[in-house]
Amino acid sequence: MTGTGSALADRLAQGTVLGAEGYVFELERRGYVKAGAYVPEAVVDFPDAVTELHREFLRAGADVMVALTYYAHRDKLRQVGRESELEAMNRQAVRLARQVAAEGGALVAGNVCNTWSYDPQDAGTADVVRAMYAEQLGWAADEGVDFVIAETNDYLGEALIALEVSQELGLPAMVTLATTGPARTWDGYDYVEACKILAGHGAAVVGLNCDRGPATMLPLVARIREQVDCAVAAQPVPYRTTESSPTMESLRAEGVNRVFPLALDPFSCTRFEMADFAVAARDLGVNYVGICCGAGPHHVRAMAEALGRTVPASRYSPSMDLHPILGTAAPSRNPDVLEAWNVTR
Ligand SMILES: [Zn+2]
Repeated sequence: MTGTGSALADRLAQGTVLGAEGYVFELERRGYVKAGAYVPEAVVDFPDAVTELHREFLRAGADVMVALTYYAHRDKLRQVGRESELEAMNRQAVRLARQVAAEGGALVAGNVCNTWSYDPQDAGTADVVRAMYAEQLGWAADEGVDFVIAETNDYLGEALIALEVSQELGLPAMVTLATTGPARTWDGYDYVEACKILAGHGAAVVGLNCDRGPATMLPLVARIREQVDCAVAAQPVPYRTTESSPTMESLRAEGVNRVFPLALDPFSCTRFEMADFAVAARDLGVNYVGICCGAGPHHVRAMAEALGRTVPASRYSPSMDLHPILGTAAPSRNPDVLEAWNVTR
């Protein structure tokens, strides 16, 4: 199954698809997810909080509502003592995503991610991972999703298992790699080569998500775009990564013990930087342009508008001409006030 004739393929054929993720990060900031475990317990504990964030991303222009089942797999739920709620959490997550997607004609994606249970040196772990993906995606398929997003894959081997399980369920899959290393997956495949292999196995979309900010993801994704025939995705984190600190995990700040994951704020990209990324990615030929951990609805709206769209939240997009100091009333203000506000006349 390549996704041909699917709702995802139809949407990709219409032009750039805008994605919005980072649910776990944002709900942690809002007090509904525990950092460290990062299990989306809010799906059952505070479903309204999940629905609200879906709706904010939808209003900001996201074309896909991603069911919040990231890390909602058996091993993780066992670790937090909630294994008995595994099925309920997975089903509820898809229902919440579907409910909001229906408000704006968005697609619905089921979601699996790296499990931390896979070991390429231990063949038995592949079966453990396969069983976890099969139950998660089986429930997602049963509740009704348009496609699967298998993401933050450290290992090509684990990504291929997610792809196979999706295909067995008849669901198109977008498979994106984590890029914590400089050039290779944790099982030793060059990122571009890994994407070619995933495409060769029938992934509808391949690419990268998370870890890297726009500056360090774009050059890699440009090489992927050149070398694969299928659709390509790029969903960076909105953080100012650099050549010397290419990932959010490797960012360092003076006087800060650890930047990732709780002290990333000073590295945040502005809405304008994410808008520039969206245009740059589209111009490279990236088909699925999105944003990952750290995303806020203001980023997503700016990306949507940079791609030429007017979205529901555009009703409240900035009109700085209405600002009492920065707007059209500026000439009537005291010059000292204007200087203090950094306004040049
Ligand atoms: Zn992320």
